[in-house]
Amino acid sequence: MGPRPARKPARPKRAPRQQPESLRLRSIAASFTVNDLQKSVAWYRDVLGFTPGERWETNGGLRGMQMKAGACDIMLGQDDFAKGRDRKKGEGFRLWVSTAQDISELAGRVKARGWTLDREPSETPWGDWAFVRSASGAPGPDYWQQRVDYVIRATLDTSSQTIRGSERIHYVNHSPDTLAFLWVQIEQNLFAPNSITYALSQPPLHFAGGAVFDFTGKGFTGGITIERFMAGGQALKRTEYGTMTRVELPRPLPPRGVIDCDVAWHFPIPPYGGGRMGRIGTRLYEIGQWYPRLVVYDDVHGWNPLPYIGAGEFYLEYGDFDVTLTLPAGFLVAATGTVANPLAMWTAEQRARLTRARVSVEPVQIVTKAEATAHGAQRFPGTKTWHVTARQVRDVAWAASPDFRWDASSWHGVLIQTFYRPSATPWEEANRMAWFTIKHFSETWGMYPWPQATTVEGLVEGMEYPMLTFVPSIDKREDQYWVLTHEFGHEWFPMIVGSDERRYPWMDEGFNTFIDYGSAEGYFKGTAYGDTVRRELLGAARISAVPGNEQPLIDKPVEQRDLAWAAYQKPALMLTVLRDAVLGKETFERALREYVRRWKFKHPQPADFFRTIADVSGRDLDWFWRDWVYTTARLDQAVDSLGSAGDTTLVYLANRGQMVLPLTLELKFADGATESRGYPIEMWNLGSRFTARVATPRRVVGVVVDPKGIYPDIDRANNRWPR
Ligand SMILES: [Zn+2]
Repeated sequence: MGPRPARKPARPKRAPRQQPESLRLRSIAASFTVNDLQKSVAWYRDVLGFTPGERWETNGGLRGMQMKAGACDIMLGQDDFAKGRDRKKGEGFRLWVSTAQDISELAGRVKARGWTLDREPSETPWGDWAFVRSASGAPGPDYWQQRVDYVIRATLDTSSQTIRGSERIHYVNHSPDTLAFLWVQIEQNLFAPNSITYALSQPPLHFAGGAVFDFTGKGFTGGITIERFMAGGQALKRTEYGTMTRVELPRPLPPRGVIDCDVAWHFPIPPYGGGRMGRIGTRLYEIGQWYPRLVVYDDVHGWNPLPYIGAGEFYLEYGDFDVTLTLPAGFLVAATGTVANPLAMWTAEQRARLTRARVSVEPVQIVTKAEATAHGAQRFPGTKTWHVTARQVRDVAWAASPDFRWDASSWHGVLIQTFYRPSATPWEEANRMAWFTIKHFSETWGMYPWPQATTVEGLVEGMEYPMLTFVPSIDKREDQYWVLTHEFGHEWFPMIVGSDERRYPWMDEGFNTFIDYGSAEGYFKGTAYGDTVRRELLGAARISAVPGNEQPLIDKPVEQRDLAWAAYQKPALMLTVLRDAVLGKETFERALREYVRRWKFKHPQPADFFRTIADVSGRDLDWFWRDWVYTTARLDQAVDSLGSAGDTTLVYLANRGQMVLPLTLELKFADGATESRGYPIEMWNLGSRFTARVATPRRVVGVVVDPKGIYPDIDRANNRWPR
């Protein structure tokens, strides 16, 4: 169907005339008695831009009129109309409404008509006419976001290595804006010659520690072919810009308008899909960034058609999915969502084992190694169609293979599944790792919201989708855990908290990396690795926080030359320092949990995060975010010397770098005892030197700044006195 208003269609249009832009109110349904109905109707229509709706007449006389503004309507009735007799007569009334429109312009319109205002419009203290985002950092009462639901029918053809699909996109415009076009992501065009990535074919990014990020298709030429893009039976005009396409609407989509698009497409499956997806021969398919999906339209940037270049994985709308996948009959599927036709897809034995797994904290083998090996050796003619549904997710991905082993366990009703090839023996522990991960993140940051959490072993170096992650097999146990927990950590950032990774990878990769350290510390608690792993961050700072090379976190991911530092490690270090040196664990965790709670299934901006942390902690942290997010300031705290004045020891401290942080001082006394003292950030308010006065009769023989070594201090030699 074409664009249609959610409410009943308007009456046939009257002759076109000069109409001011309609008022856009949120919700109001009121009925008013007036003295002069014609005059009142004219005022609402001509001055405020209401649209006349239904009319009520008796004996040929107009008795009432419905006036509409956006989704709201009011009823105007002649004084004695219907039950209006008991109402006080009057021409005017007071009405409190909210609108995102330009109030000054509206006021001007009123005055131009010769009406008077009680009060001139003025800026309110909160600085915004609409409460889309509150000053506290929470979504405001007028918060809105678009909704997109998908019905996808796709077929995998292993002989031509092609995926062919059709989909219905159901798009609801919750914005106050009328949309003339839609932007749609067609990310398989990463591999098409018209894409930025293909044209540039940049060398892989090398992360510290040797991890390689190759965002290209390694020479593969592919791309999506859109066979049709229709609405209401009509082909829509479309322009492709590499991984994005703009779709012109036959009629502008008004606020609350709904459009259903009918799209058909196919693409060749790249063996190596830019590190996000791919296949191994005809034995394993890991499929992501695969179907045309809507670009986010939000209140801050409007449309967000930032191209898919490699870094900056996604920013997506939430909705429900109904997906069918027609695959070779012998394949087993792991996907975002829940299998809706289990009787047809799984054997009775597999279903019985799955029932056991649903109440087991220990992994249950749904497909054993022997079964997987035997199954993989068989041939199964024909195809099978899997039906998968998912609610309240940003995306859908899937994996399929005839060779999968399959383990499952359960935590608090969440089914935790691992699918892997028989050759991947480190994966025999993966289900326990996944179980611990989901439990740890749920208990620390907020409950996992979906019915299942699945991870699939394969060629992809590590990638996340809702309810589904792709993780390789890694011999070293700590590294295996790290990648597995990292990809699942993305279920919190950005699958639950729907942040914008095309712009702000630090809110996605970075927040996730921070929580991954907690997860690794928990799983490996009491081991050398578990007790020291977070210190990697200080090592990374030494390597990467180099003047001239380093870029601010706020730069876009595709502009970051050192993505590992700027998107992953620096933000993790930032939050660690905020927790350990500024807010304390309890306050910090409460604030971050609140951020997750407030922005669950929503789209936060950096300011919403900063404001939430300030709101919950009660602390002004502007100084902190400025240094860490918007600059490349580095820290160098120092002690210059010691002095004394009577019983008071004077410790001359200096801030020799550009970054400011509170300071911890360890005092060493002549008797061998030590004592730590903390100095709050305000110590640097008046300059880069500070004299700490330690009133003590004991003789201070030495001091150490940052004694636990938790800061990325670029020169530790000047942290102690005597040197
Ligand atoms: Zn990641």
